[in-house]
Amino acid sequence: MSVITIERKVLAKNDEIAGLNRELFRKNNIFAFNLVSSPGSGKTSILERTLEYFNGKVKVAVIEGDVQTDLDAQRIAKYNVPAVQIVTRGGCHLDAPLINDALKNIDLKSIQLLIIENVGNLVCPANYDLGETLKIVVASTTEGDDKPLKYPEMFRNASVLIINKIDLLPYVNCNIETLKHNALRINPRLIIFETSCATNAGITDWCDWIVKQIPPR
Ligand code: MG
Ligand code: ZN
Repeated sequence: MSVITIERKVLAKNDEIAGLNRELFRKNNIFAFNLVSSPGSGKTSILERTLEYFNGKVKVAVIEGDVQTDLDAQRIAKYNVPAVQIVTRGGCHLDAPLINDALKNIDLKSIQLLIIENVGNLVCPANYDLGETLKIVVASTTEGDDKPLKYPEMFRNASVLIINKIDLLPYVNCNIETLKHNALRINPRLIIFETSCATNAGITDWCDWIVKQIPPR
């Protein structure tokens, strides 16, 4: 019983700060998304392909969440966009206060898009509002087609599903129609993109969609 109460208090505090973050994004006309997935689904690779595609034409900043290292932030550094690394030291999710601290290192007036790469985990990031405009879940074909059934909360709370590594479909045990069906059964409003960071398939559609989400100035 008391465990549940503490958890509720933590989430209430989190939601209060998330509200402040959301207000900062609104005031500065920023589209902010929270990229979530299991470890190894390709969040960082999608981010790399996205930054390549925008090639400086969209003003982007990145917040990288990682459990232990700054390896992903090093990958992002070569794209010359403002990037802030959060190392959670074992923590399995980002929360709104961590994002609020990270935002102090970003000139919000100068960006249109903020990409938050969450820690690889499909469980608790579902419950932590960071103040983002929306959550985007990545599921790769190498993970099979039952991820939405195993982690329904995340698929319910996400607005977009990116099915990544579609180039591997011939070699893996994943029926993409079953994957989509499972995801849409849990959340019929999910917008779905199919991508490959190896062949660049789907990257144009995905990036064009992002541009449409950026609020006008
Ligand atoms: Mg990563
Ligand atoms: Zn966690």
